[in-house]
Amino acid sequence: MHEYAVTHNMLDIVLKHARAAGATRVTRVNLVIGGLTGIVDESVQMYFDLLSENTLAAGAELCFRYVEPLFRCRDCGTEFTANDYEWVCPQCGAIGGEVVAGQEFLVESIEVCQKADRTEQEDART
Ligand SMILES: [Zn+2]
Repeated sequence: MHEYAVTHNMLDIVLKHARAAGATRVTRVNLVIGGLTGIVDESVQMYFDLLSENTLAAGAELCFRYVEPLFRCRDCGTEFTANDYEWVCPQCGAIGGEVVAGQEFLVESIEVCQKADRTEQEDART
């Protein structure tokens, strides 16, 4: 259910940008997933296919870029990568740290088809 909610939000963002760009169809959505989100790309794709039916984004290709988790040591400020279970600073051995990256789920960009319609372009200018 986690992916259902995030995919729903993501689709809203995609459609908002597609409409603003005067798109007739969304062909590709470039996404960023942080390694700490636990979001499964296959589930996102599945919900996206369901939710995007009969919208501008139907049939769009989803491309995922993964961001490695990155932490910053509270004691010495060293930044380090780690897995979910062991956050140990390699510099001073302190346990724990602030999360710098890895919790994001973002729409990085979208690719769309636009109508090559002259009147519409003029309308947009006024
Ligand atoms: Zn440290």
